[in-house]
Amino acid sequence: GASSDKLRHVESMSQLPSGAGKISGINAVVLGESLAAEENDLIFPSPEFSADALVSSPKQYREMYERSIKDPAGFWSEIADTFYWKEKWNPSEVCSENLDVTKGPVHISWFKGGKTNICYNAVDRNIESGNGDNIAMYWEGNEPGQDGKLTYSELLEKVCQLANYLKSVGVGKGDAVIIYLPMLLELPIAMLACARIGAVHSVVFAGFSADSLAQRIVDCKPKLVITCNAVKRGVKPILLKDIVDAALVESEKNGVSVGLCLTYENQSAMKREDTKWQAERDIWWQDVVTKFPTKCDVEWVDAEDPLFLLYTSGSTGKPKGVLHTSGGYMLYTATTFKYAFDYRPTDIYWCTADCGWITGHSYVTYGPLLNGATVLVFEGTPNYPDSGRCWDIVDKYNVTIFYTAPTLVRSLMRDGSEYVTRYSRKSLRVLGSVGEPINPSAWRWFYNIVGDSRCPISDTWWQTETGGFMITPLPGAWPQKPGSATFPFFGVQPVIVDEKGQEIEGECSGYLCIKKSWPGAFRTLYGDHERYETTYFKPFAGYYFTGDGCSRDKDGYHWLTGRVDDVINVSGHRIGTAEVESALVSHPQCAEAAVVGVEHEVKGQGIYAFVTLVDGVPYSEELRKSLIVTVRNQIGAFAAPDKIHWAPGLPKTRSGKIMRRILRKIAARQLDELGDTSTLADPGVVDQLIALSDC
Ligand code: ATP
Ligand code: MG
Repeated sequence: GASSDKLRHVESMSQLPSGAGKISGINAVVLGESLAAEENDLIFPSPEFSADALVSSPKQYREMYERSIKDPAGFWSEIADTFYWKEKWNPSEVCSENLDVTKGPVHISWFKGGKTNICYNAVDRNIESGNGDNIAMYWEGNEPGQDGKLTYSELLEKVCQLANYLKSVGVGKGDAVIIYLPMLLELPIAMLACARIGAVHSVVFAGFSADSLAQRIVDCKPKLVITCNAVKRGVKPILLKDIVDAALVESEKNGVSVGLCLTYENQSAMKREDTKWQAERDIWWQDVVTKFPTKCDVEWVDAEDPLFLLYTSGSTGKPKGVLHTSGGYMLYTATTFKYAFDYRPTDIYWCTADCGWITGHSYVTYGPLLNGATVLVFEGTPNYPDSGRCWDIVDKYNVTIFYTAPTLVRSLMRDGSEYVTRYSRKSLRVLGSVGEPINPSAWRWFYNIVGDSRCPISDTWWQTETGGFMITPLPGAWPQKPGSATFPFFGVQPVIVDEKGQEIEGECSGYLCIKKSWPGAFRTLYGDHERYETTYFKPFAGYYFTGDGCSRDKDGYHWLTGRVDDVINVSGHRIGTAEVESALVSHPQCAEAAVVGVEHEVKGQGIYAFVTLVDGVPYSEELRKSLIVTVRNQIGAFAAPDKIHWAPGLPKTRSGKIMRRILRKIAARQLDELGDTSTLADPGVVDQLIALSDC
């Protein structure tokens, strides 16, 4: 019956992949010793879920993983064979790499000599296999009731028209194009159109300031900028074209002039009559693009030709122009998408990320379309008209896979579960998280409330630089631990090293590095290969250094502890900011927390915590004490915050990550050294925080 099924399932799950020690939690469950272990420690996918999953047991994962490590060329070539190549790669050149700076320049290449096109594989190939009438993309606008959709055939026509236009104005293979658009369907269309003709797109998140945009224009010198006149986020209109105008003036001053600005008229936000215009430079998308033919030949490119350039979100300083190439990135995003979300053709997939971030490149546009998936593109914000918007959308489209960020989970959790539970959400099957470590308490809320305790969560650890998932659960394959990104994806060899760059085995914590390349790896920083080597390959010779700290537990699960720059050293204890933050956020009245180190006479560094309370909860001395006690109890007295600083809001990048660099300055009272705050989502929070410094 059901219970013996469950037991068999649990037994097969207990063959965990690591071989790194005993799996006490699972064994306890198998032996029926402790059900609490299941609740507190390990969360199993249901037997039905696993039975249907692409990878349904740790054993199956381990076999595939081992093969991918022993024979990467064979493993990835088989996958490459499922895509269309105009000319096959040279079989002896599947992968060529040097990650060791002491042995010469760092280089990575996959499938060199192969000729392909990612747009062809993401769009045309699905039509040729008879799926042209399937929905490629749904679009949900800022206002409920505003929506649209495109089949794969319709998508191809739109892509071709724009590609033909781009060619007509002289954009060709290797030319850069800056795309500064909100989440209209025109954004993925523009990316695909560039890819089709071999142009290199650089999407800039349409929330960045004119200065940030200018900085990127000056760096990559695009042939044209593609934008729209305005967009509404919630009730607030944002005049994107004005920002582009200012950025182009600024770029001109820095010696880069762009003579063409293709502007989409986003009628729901602004009429063309109201748009500021420079006739000699600006042109309306609707006036020209729609006149071009709906067929456009594909430019076959080398697997190693550049596909796009994307500047990292800038949490740690000057943005880096990460360059990805075509072939390896194609295989990698498609394969990671398929397995990490256990994709099947009936899925309706929604990723809340903007195409301005890597997540929107790999997992709104390329990964899903390469699988022929149906993707939902959402223009609006999760709390407009109210905090139930996401679940309203989930029910409207019967979304099955929902992929988002911890910052959104925490903010919806703060607004209360009623917004969630008033919607059915019965279509949901798999949930996903990316961007920061997800605190166990947020994980549980996401799992229990949003997913009704039945949808596995893929907590995907990866970076702009990695192109795709690196450490991620495969939802049917193994039990999860809230807050752990679990195990490496196929072909990825994560290692944890100590200060001296020695690999450490078993249960440990240290610096997360990757040994050997993988197809989706970035190939350089645009125009600055030296910075590429210095930042990523010099810190630990022979490895790609991720910049993140990580620990591995006795069962081999990986726990990301945040950026290593953020580690705090209190009286010789190395404490990850993520750990203290998680403890704080587990307090029922704490909505969000950010922890930084400050100088401390005795301890070397002290712990300084910025805390945002749940809506409506007043600050009090008692609450301050109770927060400190929570950290003491969960981690230990050495991790107890020395200071709690009440924070109505936290400074965040526009991708929703906390900018600790600014918090460190506020904590140290170095207010004249705050640096550039213009890239913050809401620069106003900095003043609020300063005003509350002494409360
Ligand atoms: P910059 O490199 O410019 O400072 P960034 O690192 O924020 O910006 P991204 O490439 O968007 O830019 O983010 C990658 C980083 O996000 C990772 O290095 C890690 O610190 C964090 N991260 C992403 N996903 C996860 C996850 N699932 N768990 C823990 N951390 C994550
Ligand atoms: Mg980074």
